[in-house]
Amino acid sequence: MARYIFVTGGVVSSLGKGLSSASLAYLLQSRGFKVRIRKLDPYLNVDPGTMSPFQHGEVFVTDDGAETDLDLGHYERFSGISAKQSDNITTGQIYSDVLKKERKGKYLGKTVQVIPHVTDRIKEFIKYDIKNEDFVICEIGGTVGDIESLPFVEAIRQFSNDVGKKNTLFIHLTLVPYMKASDEIKTKPTQHSVKELRSIGIQPDIIICRCERSIPLDQKKKISLFCNVDIKNVIQTIDVKTIYEAPISFNSEKLDKQVLDYFNIKSKKNVNLNPWKNITTVVLNPKKYVNIAIIGKYVNLKDAYKSLDEALVHGGIFNNLKVNLVRIESDNLKPSDINKKLKNVSGILIPGGFGKRGTEGKIAAIRYARKNKIPFLGICFGMQMAIIEFARNVLNIKKASSTEFKQKCIPVIGLINEWQKNGKTIKGTNKDLGGTMRLGSYDAELINNSLIRSIYKSKIIKERHRHRYEVNINFRNQFEKKGLIFSGNSPDKNLPEIIELKNHPWFIGVQFHPEFKSRPLSPHPLFSSFIKAAKNHKK
Ligand code: GLN
Repeated sequence: MARYIFVTGGVVSSLGKGLSSASLAYLLQSRGFKVRIRKLDPYLNVDPGTMSPFQHGEVFVTDDGAETDLDLGHYERFSGISAKQSDNITTGQIYSDVLKKERKGKYLGKTVQVIPHVTDRIKEFIKYDIKNEDFVICEIGGTVGDIESLPFVEAIRQFSNDVGKKNTLFIHLTLVPYMKASDEIKTKPTQHSVKELRSIGIQPDIIICRCERSIPLDQKKKISLFCNVDIKNVIQTIDVKTIYEAPISFNSEKLDKQVLDYFNIKSKKNVNLNPWKNITTVVLNPKKYVNIAIIGKYVNLKDAYKSLDEALVHGGIFNNLKVNLVRIESDNLKPSDINKKLKNVSGILIPGGFGKRGTEGKIAAIRYARKNKIPFLGICFGMQMAIIEFARNVLNIKKASSTEFKQKCIPVIGLINEWQKNGKTIKGTNKDLGGTMRLGSYDAELINNSLIRSIYKSKIIKERHRHRYEVNINFRNQFEKKGLIFSGNSPDKNLPEIIELKNHPWFIGVQFHPEFKSRPLSPHPLFSSFIKAAKNHKK
């Protein structure tokens, strides 16, 4: 039977629950166990798909087409395990399921209540689709004490009772601040947070203390005494210089050992930390660098392009150099400023995006990349903008645009209303905004003798999508005659998936999001190649 590890957070948010859970997953996997990681989010949105990046950072997309919390991205990148739809649930989803059931009369006339109906649904989710996993790590979003997270905490309390205490482990992550004025480490916030957790029925088994500096033994003893936790299970996590050090640091603090000891399980293998040590060395001691411009609407927002930022770092690791991201707000990018702003960059990237705002600046930057032969990568919206730029400035179709933001135009980009998946036709709907996109993993066929084929070294690739609009296939001949080729296409050949320029050292647009599949220990070939091209351009 699977063992369940629940991770809660206290005192403040952003302590790194996601990274702690992901690092633990890596360590357990490396010791030879099968692990699954899930996230329970307390907000009322059914999924984060309709949330603005200002609210919640990036929307991460899984192979099976779920729009999920960005923590699932951390999980994948650290553990190497591909997340699934069934690994993320929100309060909104839980309530929506419970209410649907109520409308169908499935509760047989009973009063529908948080306990047991909502908590039962949460417990079903925790166990759903678990087969031969040794460990299931469930991170509870939010901070203990929030009204929103109460049903989740109650559900995991019951869960532990249902499957037995010896099969469940509660980890609580808290803050242990250092007070400069008194030169002291303070344990009180941790004591309070654990008191709060105990008042709702959960006694943590392991406390992870996030701190700026090492916690002296006396303070550890205090936490152990007041919080009723074995001193060996008071584990410190000191701020690391790069997130890639996290698995190394948790292992040296014996988190994985304590988890196995708790369950009385012997490790199957020795942990292998060498891959993390190697990339930490590269990241912390860069010898060379390249400047890459990212032009988008949310570039100054931490986490809005989380996977993308990470994938670029991975590309840097592959090429043994540091990638400096030059973040350029597309809203303020006037075509007349382009030369000045892009003067010192060796590569230009336009990421995914939605809506008209900032598009003219992006199009002007693409023109600059095309004409000056600067390596260019357009992702999803970025590819669509590259098509518009080429149509307007090379094909001379001045009214070329996308029906996403201009109805009266020549639609080189248009709404797709049906597409194929696994031999089935899927119809798009323009009614609801949530869940109506072409989402998840799709095959693309790469043509011979193309740059993209040499990068992937494979004819068929699988990449993740998240969009409603598509390049209009009817313009294909016009584009190809002038040197912009459709080098990757859906297997039925109706949907262009990749474009590239013939007379350019490295100019690629992709309709999908390769950044979701890049991992520090296996950088995505597209990013490795893009950064390599930028490095060569610099010389
Ligand atoms: N807005 C565009 C579309 O829906 C692109 C989306 C994206 O970049 N993810 O097709």
